[in-house]
Amino acid sequence: MSEPSTPAAGESVPARSDFIRNIVREDLASGKHTHINTRFPPEPNGYLHLGHSKSICLNFGIAAEFGGHCNLRFDDTNPEKEDVEYVEAIKEDVRWLGFEWHELRHASDYFEVLYLAAEQLIREGKAFVCDLSAEEVRQYRGTLTEPGRESPFRGRSVEENLDLFRRMRAGEFPDGACTLRAKIDMASGNINLRDPALYRIKHLPHQNTGKAWCIYPMYDYAHALSDAIEGITHSLCTLEFEDHRPLYDWVVDNVRLHERPELLKPLTDRGLPNEAARPRQIEFSRLNINYTVMSKRKLLALVNEKLVAGWDDPRMPTLQGIRRRGVPPEALHLFAERVGISKQNSVIDFSVFEGCIRDVLDAKAERRMAVVEPLKVTITNLAEGHRETLRFANHPKDAAKGEREVPFSRTLWIEREDFMETPVKGFHRLVPGGEVRLRGAGILKCEEVVKNGAAVVELRCTLDPESRPGREGANRKVKGTIHWVCAEAGVPAEIRLYDRLFSVENPDEDSEGKTYRDHLNPDSIRVVQGFVEPAAAALGNEATVQFERLGYFTADRHDHRPERPVFNRTVTLRDSWAGKPA
Ligand code: ATP
Ligand code: MG
Repeated sequence: MSEPSTPAAGESVPARSDFIRNIVREDLASGKHTHINTRFPPEPNGYLHLGHSKSICLNFGIAAEFGGHCNLRFDDTNPEKEDVEYVEAIKEDVRWLGFEWHELRHASDYFEVLYLAAEQLIREGKAFVCDLSAEEVRQYRGTLTEPGRESPFRGRSVEENLDLFRRMRAGEFPDGACTLRAKIDMASGNINLRDPALYRIKHLPHQNTGKAWCIYPMYDYAHALSDAIEGITHSLCTLEFEDHRPLYDWVVDNVRLHERPELLKPLTDRGLPNEAARPRQIEFSRLNINYTVMSKRKLLALVNEKLVAGWDDPRMPTLQGIRRRGVPPEALHLFAERVGISKQNSVIDFSVFEGCIRDVLDAKAERRMAVVEPLKVTITNLAEGHRETLRFANHPKDAAKGEREVPFSRTLWIEREDFMETPVKGFHRLVPGGEVRLRGAGILKCEEVVKNGAAVVELRCTLDPESRPGREGANRKVKGTIHWVCAEAGVPAEIRLYDRLFSVENPDEDSEGKTYRDHLNPDSIRVVQGFVEPAAAALGNEATVQFERLGYFTADRHDHRPERPVFNRTVTLRDSWAGKPA
């Protein structure tokens, strides 16, 4: 596995510490476990998002740090919303983050084991087939303050239950006709323990098992047993599952897979290794971040309603979107580290995420020059057809990144906003009759402003020959420095200026009949035609650079071509949102 956030040799690595890693350390020290197994268990019903990367970094990170294993397991127990499209995307995302799974599994790989375990529960009088409708089940369930009532079918004999359960499997009953329920305690203070369903009937094909099944196990049952089958020692999940832990434990302890190799025979017959053990569920707080929505359902709605261009729209918080935007996986590792692991729910400010991106890219991204809103400059004291090649360092703090050639000519593009005809106070860039430093090329003086009506169309300037690189006056002081692109060699480029997708901190809050759809940021994308230097155009897809003074930009994963460059703004150089009114 490549671990992008691994510090360089010689740097000391502070052992990461949080309440989960401390539990793992204790379990190893006490001998409770000699080997740590974790898993990342997405349901393949959507694309992974920023929140998932926290769970991925935690599960794979712990396995790597403690010399253990982490499985990628598709929790595919609900065929309705699942699809192989998601399975493939999830695999790609996990690898993109720099992790490799020990084994790739599906909860559905265990359907036969889960079925045998359910028969075992029936034989022990711990599960029964119930004919109550969904609505009746709700009525019988009781409330937080009132106990539930027992189902009239709870007293069925073992033989009758076995017969009915087998007939459920054989497809004799329509969807919803009956369920298999655990027999626990209808008076329990924890509603999850009031005879929860273990199996339901769904005559639906499944993305992994095809038409083999028409009954499907419920999440809590399947999840606990899948963990047990894989020998997961620490089953890490988000806080909303805290109330499910007693049921998780009930399933593990009543099925006792680790003591019953006969139940695992369907797996060993298929050559699937199993390490049955007693797993422990530990909950941590989800990652919440402002200015975005992160539930798969809402992300799906954004895609379906065409409010974004697709799952990998660079404004989406999906890992595919984040990747296309140009965020390096190292920034997600750093983010997971900075956010940390706890049991406290909180909302992380979007700027923390952007800060991680800047910190990683500042060190990593080579520098280039681009002009997004071009204004033409002609240097009148250079000969017609004058061309030269300047050499620029690719990175101001990292000589190892080398140098590149930057063409320079009599005509240049500069940023329209670097010129002001009637300057405001404190404007230190180019003004009529004023001077400015052209980055790496010398000092430019604006001699004449060419206009077409009110519009400035060209600046006619002179370049002080004594201020050229290597000349005596090269260090002469002027107030501002601006970037530029050679108009003769520069390559026209499409530049996509992305910003946050939502304009309010909590787009999820439904108030005054408004939903997140009403809070989309109208300026979340602006596409402009600019120019980039040849050494930017030539970059490969997904290369990220800093366009000097503009921000970090990434050659679009799909649309960029050297002859027709397309760059996405990954993040600006500074936080422009701080201090904005909420
Ligand atoms: P969503 O609520 O967006 O639909 P989910 O929880 O249903 O997500 P799963 O595929 O079930 O998505 O999640 C896989 C794993 O990722 C689970 O262990 C889940 O707890 C974890 N996870 C999901 N969202 C977050 C989050 N925001 N922060 C941390 N972990 C998360
Ligand atoms: Mg879920």
